[in-house]
Amino acid sequence: MKILLVYPYFIDKRINEEDVSAIPMGLYYVGAMLRANGYAVDILNGHHLGSAPHRIYQVLGEKQPDVVGFSILHANRWGGIDIARMVKKVNPKATVVFGGVGATFLWKHLLTHFPEIDYVVRGEGEHCFLELIRFLQKKRAKAPVHIDGLAFRNAGEPFKTEDRKPVAQLDSLPMPADHFSFQHISLTRGCPAGCTFCGSPALWKRRVRFHSADYFVSQMVRLRDKGVSFFYVSDDTFTLKRELVIDICRRIIAQRLDVVWAAISRVDGVDEEVLGWMRRAGCTQISYGVESGSREIRDRYRKRISEADIGRAFDLTVRYGILARAYFIYGGPGESNQSIDESLALIRRIRPLSAIFYILDLFPGTALYEDYKQRTGTTDDIWLDRVEDMLYFETDATLSKTAVLSFGRRLREGYLSMLPEFARKIDLIDDPELYALHADFLSRLALTFSHGDYAINPLVENNLATAVMLFERSLQYHPDHRAFWGLGLVYQHLRRFDESLAVLKRGIEHHKTSLDLRMALANSLMRLNRYPEARQCLEAIPDHPRSVELIIRCCRLMRDRVGEQTWMSRLSRLQLG
Ligand code: SF4
Repeated sequence: MKILLVYPYFIDKRINEEDVSAIPMGLYYVGAMLRANGYAVDILNGHHLGSAPHRIYQVLGEKQPDVVGFSILHANRWGGIDIARMVKKVNPKATVVFGGVGATFLWKHLLTHFPEIDYVVRGEGEHCFLELIRFLQKKRAKAPVHIDGLAFRNAGEPFKTEDRKPVAQLDSLPMPADHFSFQHISLTRGCPAGCTFCGSPALWKRRVRFHSADYFVSQMVRLRDKGVSFFYVSDDTFTLKRELVIDICRRIIAQRLDVVWAAISRVDGVDEEVLGWMRRAGCTQISYGVESGSREIRDRYRKRISEADIGRAFDLTVRYGILARAYFIYGGPGESNQSIDESLALIRRIRPLSAIFYILDLFPGTALYEDYKQRTGTTDDIWLDRVEDMLYFETDATLSKTAVLSFGRRLREGYLSMLPEFARKIDLIDDPELYALHADFLSRLALTFSHGDYAINPLVENNLATAVMLFERSLQYHPDHRAFWGLGLVYQHLRRFDESLAVLKRGIEHHKTSLDLRMALANSLMRLNRYPEARQCLEAIPDHPRSVELIIRCCRLMRDRVGEQTWMSRLSRLQLG
């Protein structure tokens, strides 16, 4: 039996593509469980295929799956339905299974209105999906009423079996890294908090289960051996058990994994010791849900965090050289210009170096959605419209679209105008053991101002001056390779070639084998018409992809015909080879 697992596309374009472009971990866990039990499984990331149905038909033609399972996060359910229709067109006998948080809460709606969906796996999918595959293989005529956690049409009506008990030991699950390669990993399932805009409380019943440090780090090692060196730790709150996190960090350090990772936490879930270990183990970013500067609005979201907790977490995180990212929600119940002022005032106090602002939306499984249904008598049939989700303000007569959009503009513009000041005020802990890591942190941040998101955003003023300041600060801590290179390039861009030469030469003294520093140096020399030196510099790095081409240019400008011919023939050999 051939199985294809699909992560479908979203129908709307997103501001933060990175938040939704990766296949959810759950699909890898299901895939690993099936492979570990001898089934042929492929996983398709259909996130980018919304406008390319021919590609999907091509995959279906190549793979000829008997069963296609979909990971539905609610907002991508239309992508799932579109692809399910294609599956049935190619092979009407193929079985279509929906799973994931979006399908779990809408199982009845999906089975009522979409005949192309045969089964819905509710909740944790690994064992339920495996039992369903075994059932399908036996081609029994009876309905699978014995499989807990499943839903299907029984005598034409949507029907669900008993809820499945949660997996007691997460470590008992086959390790996805044994079968697939990916960047998102997790330590836990569930979150103890009860935020009203979040589906986690209803999905996991506010209970949390943990992998062991051994499982988590072994997974990281296996992925690192496959070439993955940057990880997103996608737990709702990674630091729930501080001793476990410290154990993990100790192991990453002891095994010299040399990995970099980003995590998510709560502002009341971190302290100095944990942050110190996380930084030493390669953590470069922690995202925190702040949601609003208004206490009243946070209370409405049941986000039980105090302003003191928020301030302390952001302050400490940055002091340990970890970028603290803030999530804000706006356009929710009670939002006004005054509450936006309070959010901007909080932003000024906590100085986040990255911030994401979302309009509050409602989706099944959240307390706010249930409240909306009760208030208005609406049913799940609203999801028959081809929309991803519903923005809260559309359900609240006291909020207009114009007002909410202006709230968003105020937040983004206000935040970005403060950002260079936040960068200037970074206060790092004075611990010599952390100096190299501080340099790494500052040069990473500098790069976002010189070459990354903040470089191209017109709302960020003085981006190059900020980058120079950060690169220079980085070098005060440690001879950081990225800082030499980035600073050399920024000086080049500012036509401050002598300073560029000086910093790149200093960099080469510390990083003698760096191709990037030598290439940047050669470029600066050429901009100063110092072709013989540039050529000499390039001849020391003949393996750099641009070296030969630039050496030829130097020869030409130096009118060295012999050199030019020699290097031209070398270029031809390289192109032929
Ligand atoms: S928003 Fe975060 S803290 Fe709140 S319930 Fe969801 S996962 Fe937990």
